[in-house]
Amino acid sequence: MTRPEHQDPFRWQTTSDDDALFATDELFLHDLGSGRMSDLEFLHVTAKRILNHVPDGSRAPSNWTINVYRGCSHACTYCFARPTHEYLGLNIGSDFDRKIVVKINAVDRLRTELADPNWRGETIAMGTNTDPYQRAEAKYRLTRGVLQALAEYRNPFSILTKSPLVVRDLDVLLEAAQHAHVSVNFSLGTLDRRVWRATEPGAPDPRRRVDAMARLAAAGISTGALIAPILPGLSDDAAQLREVVSAVRDAGGRLLGIGPLHLRRGTREHFLDWLRDFDADLHRNYLRRYARSDYAPEHYLAQLYRRAGIERVSRRSLR
Ligand code: SF4
Repeated sequence: MTRPEHQDPFRWQTTSDDDALFATDELFLHDLGSGRMSDLEFLHVTAKRILNHVPDGSRAPSNWTINVYRGCSHACTYCFARPTHEYLGLNIGSDFDRKIVVKINAVDRLRTELADPNWRGETIAMGTNTDPYQRAEAKYRLTRGVLQALAEYRNPFSILTKSPLVVRDLDVLLEAAQHAHVSVNFSLGTLDRRVWRATEPGAPDPRRRVDAMARLAAAGISTGALIAPILPGLSDDAAQLREVVSAVRDAGGRLLGIGPLHLRRGTREHFLDWLRDFDADLHRNYLRRYARSDYAPEHYLAQLYRRAGIERVSRRSLR
């Protein structure tokens, strides 16, 4: 492993997550992936802390989050976390997809923070800024270590993922759920294979997510799906939405709500560049739709719930 040469001192400035994470001289070791991960690079860093208090007004499902990785090999074109890579001097496109920051001391750090007498045992959310079960987790097993620590401390937590790899940790989830509230939820915007392959090129098949949900539900773990992001003109027709709703219900999962695409700065440029090549007419449509706001309008969200045939749900239901 070598120290990378491609950038100046680490530039992880204040973000909505993990501000001032690293001591500059502890940074960072560079590890190339191999085998099925040969397209990835791993940047090992030492986190100064791992529990992150989310800013007031955040839409996160809890006041505390853990993200053991930065960047995400699921490579979703619409990923709102892409701009977090810019703070590292990396780009929000291919670097975000392939240069994965690994907080190598995450589990030890978490044990220290959970043992702090000031820690009040609040629910911790994982999967808010990167997928805790992206491919790197098969190699590093940091998320599994985090779950083991949380189980030991009987601390409640929730997970949001696109990966069936979470089923690997069913033993730890069951142990944790004996003493604290545990939920494992899936991000499931569509079951349409064409849309999945185009917009989530590194993420597991959404039908495998549904299978994983069914296994967790059968084992007694609280599970469900956030139907998001819904992409206008790609995954928002009634048949597509109802297909997802039926699959979740059949798997024994809860419906945690619907979320239309949100295009914040950075993500907006990346996504729209991709969309221009994918469908020029739709690209023009999105320029109009998102001209005034990063968010889809309220009436569109109401329309999605009507098309899906379900009641409106609060985002805090992700707990
Ligand atoms: S799985 Fe989540 S964090 Fe990973 S690229 Fe997709 S949207 Fe981003």
